[in-house]
Amino acid sequence: MKIVQREFHVSTRSRTEMVDVTHQVEAATHEAGIRNGETIIFCPHTTAALTINENADPDVVHDVLLALDEMVPRSHPGFRHSEGNSDAHTKSSLVGCSEQVLIKDGTLVLGTWQAIYFCEFDGPRRRRVIVQVRGE
Ligand code: ZN
Repeated sequence: MKIVQREFHVSTRSRTEMVDVTHQVEAATHEAGIRNGETIIFCPHTTAALTINENADPDVVHDVLLALDEMVPRSHPGFRHSEGNSDAHTKSSLVGCSEQVLIKDGTLVLGTWQAIYFCEFDGPRRRRVIVQVRGE
């Protein structure tokens, strides 16, 4: 089995945002030259996350961000963290920092309406995404 690690950057434009990074993950997978296996996508940040969700209707991304805002208020009288971004840290843990996608015949195995999203919760910032491709 071959293991190849790549990374790419995402420049976010708002405090909270979901950026479709499917093409960057696909490109990293192709560069790795692995046709069958899996790819692990990892976000090395504590106020951002990765998820897989619908890319057909942009209202879905809007609604997911809205629902997260409802669940986790920007400020809370009990928050202690002095940076003032405890909401972003909490959302990062709720959504999670990695995803795993299968690769078959050189293509990412995703559902028709699925895309891989980088989730920004404390932007705008320049962020890193690590992709590790494993297989043959
Ligand atoms: Zn912080």
